[in-house]
Amino acid sequence: MLTRFAPSPTGELHLGHAYSAVLAHDAARSAGGHFLIRIDDIDGSRSREEFVGASLADLAWLGIGRDGDPVRQSARLGPYAAALDDLRARGLVYPCFCTRADIAASLSAPHGPSGAIYPGTCRSLPDAERQRRIVAEPHCWRLDMARAVAETGELAWEEAERGTRVADPLAHGDIVLARKDAPASYHLASTIDDADMGVTHIIRGADLIASTDVHRLLQALFDLPTPLYRHHALVCGPDGKRLAKRDAAASLGSLRAAGIDGAALAADLIAGRLPAGYSLQNP
Ligand code: GLU
Repeated sequence: MLTRFAPSPTGELHLGHAYSAVLAHDAARSAGGHFLIRIDDIDGSRSREEFVGASLADLAWLGIGRDGDPVRQSARLGPYAAALDDLRARGLVYPCFCTRADIAASLSAPHGPSGAIYPGTCRSLPDAERQRRIVAEPHCWRLDMARAVAETGELAWEEAERGTRVADPLAHGDIVLARKDAPASYHLASTIDDADMGVTHIIRGADLIASTDVHRLLQALFDLPTPLYRHHALVCGPDGKRLAKRDAAASLGSLRAAGIDGAALAADLIAGRLPAGYSLQNP
Protein backbone atom coordinates (compact mmCIF):
# COMPACT_ATOMS: atom_id res chain seq x y z
CA MET A 1 0.00 0.00 0.00
CA LEU A 2 1.55 3.29 -1.06
CA THR A 3 0.01 6.76 -1.14
CA ARG A 4 1.42 10.14 -2.07
CA PHE A 5 0.83 13.85 -1.79
CA ALA A 6 1.77 15.86 -4.87
CA PRO A 7 1.78 19.64 -4.41
CA SER A 8 2.46 22.02 -7.30
CA PRO A 9 4.93 24.65 -6.05
CA THR A 10 3.01 27.55 -7.55
CA GLY A 11 1.91 29.09 -4.25
CA GLU A 12 1.66 28.46 -0.54
CA LEU A 13 -0.13 25.37 0.71
CA HIS A 14 -3.41 26.00 2.52
CA LEU A 15 -5.77 24.08 4.79
CA GLY A 16 -7.18 22.17 1.80
CA HIS A 17 -3.73 20.84 0.96
CA ALA A 18 -3.18 19.97 4.62
CA TYR A 19 -6.41 18.00 4.64
CA SER A 20 -5.40 16.06 1.53
CA ALA A 21 -1.88 15.39 2.79
CA VAL A 22 -2.96 14.18 6.25
CA LEU A 23 -5.63 11.88 4.77
CA ALA A 24 -3.14 10.28 2.39
CA HIS A 25 -0.45 10.03 5.07
CA ASP A 26 -2.85 8.59 7.64
CA ALA A 27 -4.19 6.02 5.16
CA ALA A 28 -0.66 4.78 4.53
CA ARG A 29 0.35 4.73 8.19
CA SER A 30 -2.79 2.96 9.39
CA ALA A 31 -2.35 0.27 6.74
CA GLY A 32 1.36 -0.17 7.49
CA GLY A 33 2.06 1.18 4.02
CA HIS A 34 4.32 3.86 2.58
CA PHE A 35 3.87 7.55 1.91
CA LEU A 36 5.74 9.61 -0.68
CA ILE A 37 5.86 13.26 -1.61
CA ARG A 38 6.06 14.36 -5.22
CA ILE A 39 6.74 17.92 -6.28
CA ASP A 40 4.70 18.63 -9.41
CA ASP A 41 7.08 21.24 -10.84
CA ILE A 42 6.79 20.32 -14.51
CA ASP A 43 5.50 23.79 -15.38
CA GLY A 44 8.74 25.76 -15.08
CA SER A 45 7.08 29.08 -15.78
CA ARG A 46 4.77 28.83 -12.75
CA SER A 47 6.82 26.77 -10.28
CA ARG A 48 9.01 28.56 -7.75
CA GLU A 49 11.73 27.02 -5.64
CA GLU A 50 10.69 28.99 -2.54
CA PHE A 51 7.33 27.21 -2.58
CA VAL A 52 9.05 23.81 -2.69
CA GLY A 53 10.90 24.63 0.53
CA ALA A 54 7.80 26.15 2.15
CA SER A 55 5.64 23.12 1.24
CA LEU A 56 8.14 20.66 2.71
CA ALA A 57 8.38 22.77 5.88
CA ASP A 58 4.55 22.87 6.13
CA LEU A 59 4.33 19.09 5.84
CA ALA A 60 7.02 18.60 8.48
CA TRP A 61 5.11 21.03 10.76
CA LEU A 62 1.99 18.88 10.32
CA GLY A 63 4.02 15.89 11.52
CA ILE A 64 3.92 14.18 8.15
CA GLY A 65 6.95 11.96 7.76
CA ARG A 66 7.77 10.60 4.31
CA ASP A 67 9.46 7.45 3.08
CA GLY A 68 12.32 8.51 0.85
CA ASP A 69 13.24 11.78 -0.81
CA PRO A 70 10.61 13.84 -2.59
CA VAL A 71 10.25 12.97 -6.28
CA ARG A 72 10.66 16.01 -8.57
CA GLN A 73 8.81 15.99 -11.88
CA SER A 74 11.37 18.39 -13.33
CA ALA A 75 13.94 15.59 -12.93
CA ARG A 76 11.82 13.07 -14.82
CA LEU A 77 11.58 14.49 -18.32
CA GLY A 78 13.06 11.32 -19.86
CA PRO A 79 10.14 9.02 -18.98
CA TYR A 80 7.61 11.64 -20.14
CA ALA A 81 9.39 12.07 -23.49
CA ALA A 82 9.50 8.28 -23.93
CA ALA A 83 5.76 8.03 -23.25
CA LEU A 84 5.03 10.74 -25.79
CA ASP A 85 7.29 9.05 -28.36
CA ASP A 86 5.34 5.86 -27.85
CA LEU A 87 2.02 7.62 -28.53
CA ARG A 88 3.54 9.37 -31.55
CA ALA A 89 4.70 6.05 -33.00
CA ARG A 90 1.17 4.70 -32.55
CA GLY A 91 -0.40 7.71 -34.30
CA LEU A 92 -2.30 8.69 -31.15
CA VAL A 93 -0.98 12.24 -30.81
CA TYR A 94 -0.67 15.04 -33.34
CA PRO A 95 1.07 18.44 -33.37
CA CYS A 96 -1.27 21.40 -32.92
CA PHE A 97 -0.28 24.86 -34.05
CA CYS A 98 -3.37 26.73 -32.87
CA THR A 99 -2.95 29.68 -30.55
CA ARG A 100 -5.34 30.31 -27.68
CA ALA A 101 -6.90 33.06 -29.78
CA ASP A 102 -7.43 30.65 -32.72
CA ILE A 103 -9.26 28.24 -30.44
CA ALA A 104 -11.37 30.94 -28.81
CA ALA A 105 -12.30 32.30 -32.25
CA SER A 106 -13.25 28.96 -33.73
CA LEU A 107 -16.99 28.91 -33.20
CA SER A 108 -18.39 28.63 -29.71
CA ALA A 109 -16.04 25.92 -28.50
CA PRO A 110 -18.09 23.72 -26.15
CA HIS A 111 -16.71 23.21 -22.65
CA GLY A 112 -15.70 19.86 -21.17
CA PRO A 113 -14.29 18.96 -17.75
CA SER A 114 -10.81 20.18 -18.83
CA GLY A 115 -12.01 23.50 -20.27
CA ALA A 116 -12.82 24.34 -23.90
CA ILE A 117 -13.02 21.26 -26.09
CA TYR A 118 -10.50 21.57 -28.88
CA PRO A 119 -12.35 21.82 -32.20
CA GLY A 120 -9.87 19.51 -33.95
CA THR A 121 -8.45 22.03 -36.44
CA CYS A 122 -4.98 20.41 -36.60
CA ARG A 123 -6.15 16.80 -36.31
CA SER A 124 -6.22 16.08 -40.00
CA LEU A 125 -3.54 18.36 -41.44
CA PRO A 126 -1.76 16.80 -44.41
CA ASP A 127 1.51 15.18 -43.41
CA ALA A 128 3.62 17.45 -45.59
CA GLU A 129 2.14 20.55 -43.96
CA ARG A 130 2.78 19.07 -40.51
CA GLN A 131 6.43 18.36 -41.32
CA ARG A 132 6.91 21.87 -42.70
CA ARG A 133 5.25 23.67 -39.81
CA ILE A 134 6.71 21.52 -37.03
CA VAL A 135 10.20 22.93 -37.59
CA ALA A 136 9.01 26.51 -37.94
CA GLU A 137 6.11 27.07 -35.56
CA PRO A 138 5.51 26.64 -31.85
CA HIS A 139 3.22 23.70 -31.23
CA CYS A 140 1.84 21.42 -28.60
CA TRP A 141 0.98 17.71 -28.82
CA ARG A 142 -2.64 16.67 -28.51
CA LEU A 143 -4.10 13.26 -27.88
CA ASP A 144 -6.40 12.04 -30.64
CA MET A 145 -9.07 11.15 -28.13
CA ALA A 146 -11.44 9.28 -30.45
CA ARG A 147 -8.62 7.03 -31.66
CA ALA A 148 -7.33 6.48 -28.15
CA VAL A 149 -10.77 5.49 -26.88
CA ALA A 150 -11.22 3.18 -29.87
CA GLU A 151 -8.05 1.38 -28.72
CA THR A 152 -8.95 1.03 -25.06
CA GLY A 153 -12.72 0.48 -25.12
CA GLU A 154 -14.76 1.30 -22.02
CA LEU A 155 -12.80 1.88 -18.82
CA ALA A 156 -13.65 2.22 -15.15
CA TRP A 157 -12.00 2.65 -11.76
CA GLU A 158 -12.84 1.85 -8.15
CA GLU A 159 -13.76 4.90 -6.08
CA ALA A 160 -13.72 4.56 -2.28
CA GLU A 161 -17.24 4.42 -0.86
CA ARG A 162 -18.80 5.09 -4.25
CA GLY A 163 -17.93 1.89 -6.08
CA THR A 164 -17.16 1.53 -9.74
CA ARG A 165 -17.02 4.73 -11.81
CA VAL A 166 -17.06 4.60 -15.59
CA ALA A 167 -14.42 6.88 -17.13
CA ASP A 168 -15.55 9.40 -19.73
CA PRO A 169 -12.36 10.57 -21.43
CA LEU A 170 -14.20 11.55 -24.64
CA ALA A 171 -15.84 14.41 -22.73
CA HIS A 172 -12.41 16.07 -22.51
CA GLY A 173 -11.77 16.16 -26.25
CA ASP A 174 -8.25 16.22 -27.70
CA ILE A 175 -6.33 17.28 -24.59
CA VAL A 176 -2.79 18.67 -24.65
CA LEU A 177 -0.16 16.18 -23.48
CA ALA A 178 2.96 18.29 -24.02
CA ARG A 179 3.94 21.84 -24.84
CA LYS A 180 7.21 23.50 -25.67
CA ASP A 181 7.37 25.22 -22.27
CA ALA A 182 5.95 22.27 -20.29
CA PRO A 183 7.25 19.01 -21.78
CA ALA A 184 4.47 16.97 -20.18
CA SER A 185 1.00 18.00 -19.09
CA TYR A 186 -0.22 17.32 -15.57
CA HIS A 187 -2.23 14.37 -16.90
CA LEU A 188 0.71 12.71 -18.63
CA ALA A 189 3.32 13.35 -15.93
CA SER A 190 1.05 12.40 -13.08
CA THR A 191 -0.08 9.12 -14.65
CA ILE A 192 3.45 8.00 -15.48
CA ASP A 193 4.79 9.07 -12.08
CA ASP A 194 2.08 7.37 -10.05
CA ALA A 195 2.85 4.12 -11.85
CA ASP A 196 6.64 4.47 -11.58
CA MET A 197 6.37 5.38 -7.88
CA GLY A 198 4.22 2.31 -7.25
CA VAL A 199 1.26 4.33 -5.93
CA THR A 200 -1.58 1.95 -5.05
CA HIS A 201 -4.06 4.45 -3.54
CA ILE A 202 -4.60 7.96 -4.88
CA ILE A 203 -6.20 10.23 -2.29
CA ARG A 204 -6.86 13.74 -3.57
CA GLY A 205 -9.49 16.45 -3.77
CA ALA A 206 -12.81 15.96 -5.51
CA ASP A 207 -11.88 18.80 -7.89
CA LEU A 208 -9.64 16.25 -9.63
CA ILE A 209 -12.24 13.53 -10.14
CA ALA A 210 -12.77 14.48 -13.80
CA SER A 211 -9.01 14.24 -14.39
CA THR A 212 -9.27 10.58 -13.48
CA ASP A 213 -11.22 10.03 -16.74
CA VAL A 214 -8.04 10.95 -18.58
CA HIS A 215 -5.61 9.25 -16.19
CA ARG A 216 -7.53 5.99 -16.49
CA LEU A 217 -7.30 6.23 -20.28
CA LEU A 218 -3.55 6.90 -20.19
CA GLN A 219 -3.07 3.94 -17.83
CA ALA A 220 -4.81 1.71 -20.35
CA LEU A 221 -2.81 3.10 -23.30
CA PHE A 222 0.50 2.47 -21.49
CA ASP A 223 -0.59 -0.78 -19.89
CA LEU A 224 -0.10 0.57 -16.35
CA PRO A 225 -1.89 -0.64 -13.23
CA THR A 226 -4.92 1.30 -12.00
CA PRO A 227 -4.69 2.51 -8.40
CA LEU A 228 -7.70 2.76 -6.11
CA TYR A 229 -9.03 6.30 -5.80
CA ARG A 230 -10.52 8.42 -3.06
CA HIS A 231 -11.56 11.91 -4.12
CA HIS A 232 -12.29 13.66 -0.86
CA ALA A 233 -14.49 16.65 0.01
CA LEU A 234 -12.92 20.08 -0.39
CA VAL A 235 -12.15 22.55 2.38
CA CYS A 236 -14.20 25.73 1.98
CA GLY A 237 -13.54 29.08 3.60
CA PRO A 238 -15.87 31.32 5.60
CA ASP A 239 -17.37 32.52 2.28
CA GLY A 240 -18.41 28.95 1.43
CA LYS A 241 -16.03 28.79 -1.54
CA ARG A 242 -13.25 26.26 -1.87
CA LEU A 243 -9.87 27.56 -0.81
CA ALA A 244 -7.49 28.88 -3.42
CA LYS A 245 -3.78 29.59 -3.19
CA ARG A 246 -4.56 33.30 -2.90
CA ASP A 247 -6.49 32.81 0.41
CA ALA A 248 -3.66 34.01 2.63
CA ALA A 249 -5.59 33.53 5.88
CA ALA A 250 -5.79 29.77 5.37
CA SER A 251 -2.17 29.38 4.27
CA LEU A 252 -0.23 26.90 6.35
CA GLY A 253 2.63 29.38 6.53
CA SER A 254 0.43 31.91 8.30
CA LEU A 255 -1.03 29.31 10.69
CA ARG A 256 2.49 28.15 11.45
CA ALA A 257 3.62 31.74 12.05
CA ALA A 258 0.63 32.26 14.36
CA GLY A 259 2.01 29.53 16.62
CA ILE A 260 -0.64 26.90 15.87
CA ASP A 261 0.36 23.33 16.74
CA GLY A 262 0.69 21.51 13.41
CA ALA A 263 0.40 17.99 14.80
CA ALA A 264 -2.78 18.91 16.69
CA LEU A 265 -4.21 20.47 13.53
CA ALA A 266 -3.38 17.28 11.59
CA ALA A 267 -5.17 15.15 14.22
CA ASP A 268 -8.23 17.43 13.99
CA LEU A 269 -8.27 17.24 10.21
CA ILE A 270 -8.15 13.44 10.24
CA ALA A 271 -11.13 13.49 12.57
CA GLY A 272 -12.95 15.86 10.17
CA ARG A 273 -12.72 18.81 12.60
CA LEU A 274 -11.82 22.05 10.88
CA PRO A 275 -10.84 25.41 12.37
CA ALA A 276 -13.81 27.74 13.02
CA GLY A 277 -15.31 29.14 9.83
CA TYR A 278 -14.02 26.36 7.57
CA SER A 279 -16.08 23.44 6.31
CA LEU A 280 -15.83 20.37 4.11
CA GLN A 281 -18.00 20.30 1.02
CA ASN A 282 -18.48 17.95 -1.87
CA PRO A 283 -18.56 19.82 -5.17
N1 GLU B 1 -0.13 18.79 -8.39
C1 GLU B 1 -1.51 18.48 -8.45
C2 GLU B 1 -2.29 19.52 -7.68
O1 GLU B 1 -1.71 20.17 -6.81
C3 GLU B 1 -1.68 17.11 -7.86
C4 GLU B 1 -2.89 16.44 -8.19
C5 GLU B 1 -2.89 14.97 -7.84
O2 GLU B 1 -2.88 14.65 -6.64
O3 GLU B 1 -2.91 14.18 -8.76
O4 GLU B 1 -3.45 19.77 -7.96
